[in-house]
Amino acid sequence: MKFGGTSVEDARAFARVARIIGARRDERPVVVVSAMSRVTDALLASVETAAATGDAEGALRPLEEHFERHTFVARTLPAGARDELFLEVEIARRELGELLRRVATGQEPRPPLQDEIVSYGECLSAKLLAAVLAERALPAAYVDARRCVITDDAHGCATPANEETYKHTRAELAPLVADGRIPVLGGFLGSTADGRTTTLGRGGSDYTAALIGAGLEAREIQIWTDVNGVLTADPRVVAHARTIPSLSFAEAAELAYFGAKVLHPKTILPAVIRSIPVRICNSRDPEQPGTGVYFDAEMSPRTVKAIAHKKGITVLHITSARMLGAYGFLRALFEVFERHQTIIDIVTTSEVSVSLSLEDTSRMEEIIRDLKPIAAVKVESNLAVVCIVGEELRYTSGVAARIFSTLRDINVLLISQGASNVNLTFVVAEADVEETVRRLHASLFECDTQELAPLFRRKEGVTR
Ligand code: ADP
Ligand code: ASP
Ligand code: MG
Repeated sequence: MKFGGTSVEDARAFARVARIIGARRDERPVVVVSAMSRVTDALLASVETAAATGDAEGALRPLEEHFERHTFVARTLPAGARDELFLEVEIARRELGELLRRVATGQEPRPPLQDEIVSYGECLSAKLLAAVLAERALPAAYVDARRCVITDDAHGCATPANEETYKHTRAELAPLVADGRIPVLGGFLGSTADGRTTTLGRGGSDYTAALIGAGLEAREIQIWTDVNGVLTADPRVVAHARTIPSLSFAEAAELAYFGAKVLHPKTILPAVIRSIPVRICNSRDPEQPGTGVYFDAEMSPRTVKAIAHKKGITVLHITSARMLGAYGFLRALFEVFERHQTIIDIVTTSEVSVSLSLEDTSRMEEIIRDLKPIAAVKVESNLAVVCIVGEELRYTSGVAARIFSTLRDINVLLISQGASNVNLTFVVAEADVEETVRRLHASLFECDTQELAPLFRRKEGVTR
């Protein structure tokens, strides 16, 4: 059971989480928890401030509000536990002050220090939750996640060594579970083989949950958040988006990758490999069924399921007459991106040009420099990708016509019917993306069901 930052924002939220866990005690839960909401952002901002100003004291000051939020939760506990947690917060304050001083001097590489600093968010919330559970006579045991999740040393976005992680997870957690205890770990954190703290990328607690679940061969991985599961669109854009009862792993992976923040994209991988179902539930309304993500496609009726979107996209249009009738060009092109460790999202090609979309532009200058000798490059930024997901997409006639007629007056780039069969993606200007998502939602999910029926019906005789 993983609880996100929005599920542990204050004392009431901790109590809610404790009730949810208590009600499922017989299912032998293992708990992963994020930092309290906004804490990771605040810790990252303190690192920025210390580095930019050289003033560690000044960088620590805005964290006071968050230390206070933790002690506020601790105050709900009996004296012994309360004092222990007061001390934990005090130790965190002192150690963070020292770490920020090291950032401020600028003499050490920043990424390892930054990981060390953000780790306090998850460590504190996990210790708090363990204490809140214990107060309700639930046999919680705080476990340092760094003893379970072993990663490479790519600080800020480390990759776990799965088998090592599973081995350590079993060794640390299985005896506790067998003993009737409820292990509580902070998400998002890992450790290199030689014991340095790493983090798994923003939103990484979902990933921790999947790794721990896979390591223990859990019956189900539950992601508890602040919405009723995966919705047909981002609820901040489409207020009346609906809960999707079930998704296939492929659908969930596409949605997560293309912006449905409710699930970290990599969460799906460890679950798929071990065929463990994932359920997204609402900690504010635990009786809601939420969304189930299943390996077995039969469990998820095949229709257009959802619309995801992601801002901050840049497109490169790469043109070269050398492409014409030549082989090896695409390899040379993609090698440039590999050399600069940059992930490409969407690719479309014509006879003499390739267009591709990127999210990470940190190495853009080097990439363009290396592409220049083989092609002309045009860069377009401030774009957004929109992704329509559904197992049935490829076999449903009329969907593309409906989508693009809805967007008649919006400029659409890089249209791609995903190779995975389950998505149709394209790029629009960032300024148009919310309107695009709203119109698509209205057209695909809100019109008369009679009118929609032919779109979603499987074509006779099409089998896979
Ligand atoms: P947590 O703190 O639980 O990890 P997140 O903020 O990471 O929560 O993810 C939950 C949020 O994801 C929701 O509050 C919602 O605003 C956003 N979101 C974006 N797209 C979707 C979607 N398709 N379905 C549900 N939530 C979505
Ligand atoms: N606390 C981390 C973040 O805000 C990890 C998580 O919440 O999943 O990114
Ligand atoms: Mg999240």
